[in-house]
Amino acid sequence: MDGCLEASLSPLSIPEYVLGCSGRRMPLLGFGTAASPPVGSQLTKTAILQAIELGYRHFDTASLYGTEQPLGEAILEAIAVGLIKSRDELFITSKLWCSDAHGELVLPALRRSLKNLRLEYLDLYLIHWPVSSKPGIYEFPIKQEDFLAMDFKAVWKAMEDCQRLGLTKSIGVSNFSCKKLGDILAFAKIPPAVNQVELNPLWQQKKLREFCKANGILLTAYAPLGAQGTIWGSNRVLECELLKEIAKQKGKTVAQICLRWAYEQGISILVKSFNKDRMKSNLEIFNWSLSQEDVKKINDIPQSRLCSGQDYISKYGPFNTTQELWDGEI
Ligand code: NAP
Repeated sequence: MDGCLEASLSPLSIPEYVLGCSGRRMPLLGFGTAASPPVGSQLTKTAILQAIELGYRHFDTASLYGTEQPLGEAILEAIAVGLIKSRDELFITSKLWCSDAHGELVLPALRRSLKNLRLEYLDLYLIHWPVSSKPGIYEFPIKQEDFLAMDFKAVWKAMEDCQRLGLTKSIGVSNFSCKKLGDILAFAKIPPAVNQVELNPLWQQKKLREFCKANGILLTAYAPLGAQGTIWGSNRVLECELLKEIAKQKGKTVAQICLRWAYEQGISILVKSFNKDRMKSNLEIFNWSLSQEDVKKINDIPQSRLCSGQDYISKYGPFNTTQELWDGEI
C-alpha cells in the first residue's frame, strides 16, 4: 500500500492512513450516516455534531442516503461553534448513484453532491455499485427493467476527471469484486484508492483483502457490526456466540470486538450509531488488542454474506444472479 498507518492528533487518537494519491489522512475509523429506516435531517445533523464532538473526523455519505445536506449543515455548525477550525480537519466521502453512473453524468452528480454538502471538494468519491440504471430516475429499490450494464471505461475516466479538477482528492469504488477491480485496473490512469465493501467477522473477505493489499487499494469495511436493524443487514454478527464469549472474557462489548478485529486486519472501518453512548464506546478500541488465540478463533468463523446485493439483481441483467454480481465471491 502507498499509505502508512500513523497515530493521529485527533482527540481520541484515531489512527490514520495516508492515501498515497492525495496525501490526505483518512481516519481509519469513520462514521456512517446511512440510517435504516431514515431518521430525518434534524436527527442526522444532531448525531453528526455529537460524533464530531466525540472525535470522529471521517464521515461517509452518498447521494442515495439523503444525508449529504444534514452533513453539510453539521460541518458548518461545527465550525461556527468551534468544534473544528475548518473543513480541512474532516475526511468526507460520498458516492455516485447508479442512475448517474454514465460518463457524461458523473461530473454533474459530483457537483450536486458538493452543493448538498456545501463543500468545495470531497476527500473521496466512490462508484456506489458496479451497475448503472436509467438516467434521471432516483429511486430505491431500482426497478428490474431500469438496470443497465455500466460502461466502466467511460465512468472511470469521468471519475479521474473529477479528481484532476480537484473536486475530489481521491476516487474509488464500492461493492467491487476482485474481478471487477481487475477490470478497472487494466485501463485506469488513476487506480482506485479505496474499495468499500461489507466486512465483518461473519464475512471477512479474505480473498479481496489480499487482492487489495497487493494492488495498493485500501479496503474499507461497511456493516462491521452486521448492520443490525437495517434492511440490508441482520443481528447475526452481534448475536454470534463466539464473539459474545470473547467479549465477556475481555470485558468489552461484542461491537468493540468486531471493530477491533477489523482494525487489526489493516483496513479502514465505517460504523454507524446515532446513539451517543454507542458512538463513544465504538471509538474505544485503540488502546487494547485481541490475543492471537482470539483472532484465530474469529478467523475460523464459518463465512457467509449478510448483504447479498439482491436489490441489484435483475432478470433483465446485467446481473441475473448474486453469483454474477460478486463474480462467484460468495
Ligand atoms: P453497522 O455500522 O455495522 O451497524 C449499524 C447498526 O448497528 C445500527 O442499527 C446501529 O444502531 C447499531 N449499532 C451501532 N453501534 C452499536 C453498538 N455498539 N452496539 C449495538 N448496536 C450498535 O452497519 P452500516 O450502518 O450498514 O455500516 C456503516 C456505514 O457504512 C453506513 O452507515 C454507511 O455510511 C456505509 N454503508 C455503505 C454501503 C455501500 O454500499 N457502500 C452499504 C451499507 C453501509 P444505533 O444507531 O441505534 O446505535
